[in-house]
Amino acid sequence: MSRQPRVAVVGAGLAGLSAGLALAKRGWRVDLYERSRLLGGKATSFEVEGYEVDCGQHVVLACCTATLDLIDELGLRDSLYIQPRFEATVLSRKRPPAHLRASSLPAPLHLMAGFARYPHLSTLDRIQVARALVAARSDRSPKGDMGSWLRRHHQSPRALRAFWDPFLVPALNAPLDRVSAEMGLFVIRTAFLGDRDAARIAYLRVPLARLAEAAAARLDGVHMRQAVVGVHREGDRITGVKLSGGTGAACDACVLAVPPRRLNSILEDAPAVGIEGLEAFEPMPIVDVHLWYDRPVLGCDFAALLDSPVQWVFEKSPGYVCCSMSAADDLVQRPERELVELGRKELAAVLPEAARARLLRGAATRDPDATFIPAPGVRRPGPATALSNLVIAGAWTDTGWPATIESAVRSGRTAALTLFSNAAGWQSTRSGGGAGALMEVAHAV
Ligand SMILES: Cc1cc2nc3c(=O)[nH]c(=O)nc-3n(C[C@H](O)[C@H](O)[C@H](O)COP(=O)(O)OP(=O)(O)OC[C@H]3O[C@@H](n4cnc5c(N)ncnc54)[C@H](O)[C@@H]3O)c2cc1C
Repeated sequence: MSRQPRVAVVGAGLAGLSAGLALAKRGWRVDLYERSRLLGGKATSFEVEGYEVDCGQHVVLACCTATLDLIDELGLRDSLYIQPRFEATVLSRKRPPAHLRASSLPAPLHLMAGFARYPHLSTLDRIQVARALVAARSDRSPKGDMGSWLRRHHQSPRALRAFWDPFLVPALNAPLDRVSAEMGLFVIRTAFLGDRDAARIAYLRVPLARLAEAAAARLDGVHMRQAVVGVHREGDRITGVKLSGGTGAACDACVLAVPPRRLNSILEDAPAVGIEGLEAFEPMPIVDVHLWYDRPVLGCDFAALLDSPVQWVFEKSPGYVCCSMSAADDLVQRPERELVELGRKELAAVLPEAARARLLRGAATRDPDATFIPAPGVRRPGPATALSNLVIAGAWTDTGWPATIESAVRSGRTAALTLFSNAAGWQSTRSGGGAGALMEVAHAV
């Protein structure tokens, strides 16, 4: 039989799309099922008052190699902004804008010259930050949470507020006392200590949904507004997915690339297929406030704010700024009007031009389940399940990365590889010569 294996990919986030792309590239027929009307999952865009906005500002770093590779593969490299060298403008109420810049020295010395001139740290803070960076390099099995780790390494409240919080809280989307030290140190090592260029900030200059759309265009079937509510199982194989509305679709294999709670409800009994601990994943919101002014207000592309619920602000086009608020569990329920006013006030306090400019309109986007908290002790499952033709993917799965785009892309690719390597084993259970095609695919990886 020459039929290509048919795989159902559930979830059109970047994990599902990355899995689908990898499978399609090897000749598998991919049917993508997405419950919403939007491609991209948490990394999407939609219209707000006639403007297409991202659901929230998304940034990656140059160390996010799988994401940059995906952007290349989908032909969007020209739409990517990437810093030539790491640099961040830091705004505060009390001082003029400060800058943290990497020098051309090799890591970790590349940060030292920038620190020496960073006015928000005292000389002692700078020494202690440098010591903590050295300790982060060698501490391979840290215990407990990241906040405690930093305090154990003599980081002052000022160093936390002016250096660690602005960089680590958005990267991990959680207060540092709730994040495992292991994940915090992974971020520090990967972004700041591995390679001089790793922390360069990058983002797409086109709406985020373009990435998902480009990926979906390479798949065979894209079924939007089609929630998968369960799977059909025969013995140790998945044979199809159950769709909302009572219909179903047959498949030879299945990738479930949905958040933990949804996975639990699709599978009904996740432990029975070898997936434990889904209830341990605690979500954390992100809120973004979009402000349209009558003129440019920022004077640079993006900046960090100290002592503000707005951690980073991006001027995405002249006069349109996006205020990003991570770890926003105390803000997510607030009415849009209040959030817009909060964003406006916070910018006016640190940007004289924003105080003078006229606000034309404002909007807030919020996701109560933006990411999960990488808390100490949370065990993330890998892609494999007890069934060889069923794999899972998602930024929350065990990629070693925090729940980010990079984690989603890596998880999708690893899930596809897991299916390829399992495919050889289906030979004996599949009818007809389909297994031959599967063997070919497995050898091609
Ligand atoms: C506001 C915001 C800002 C962020 N900022 C950044 C950032 O700056 N940098 C960064 O790297 N990351 C950021 N993230 C995190 C990043 O967007 C996510 O980690 C990543 O996109 C998750 O991808 P995923 O495919 O794992 O999951 P998701 O994007 O959640 O995709 C899952 C998909 O499955 C669908 N689905 C669920 N149930 C079903 C079902 N039963 N049937 C069919 N479909 C179903 C969902 O609708 C969704 O489309 C941000 C997230 C948010 C919300």
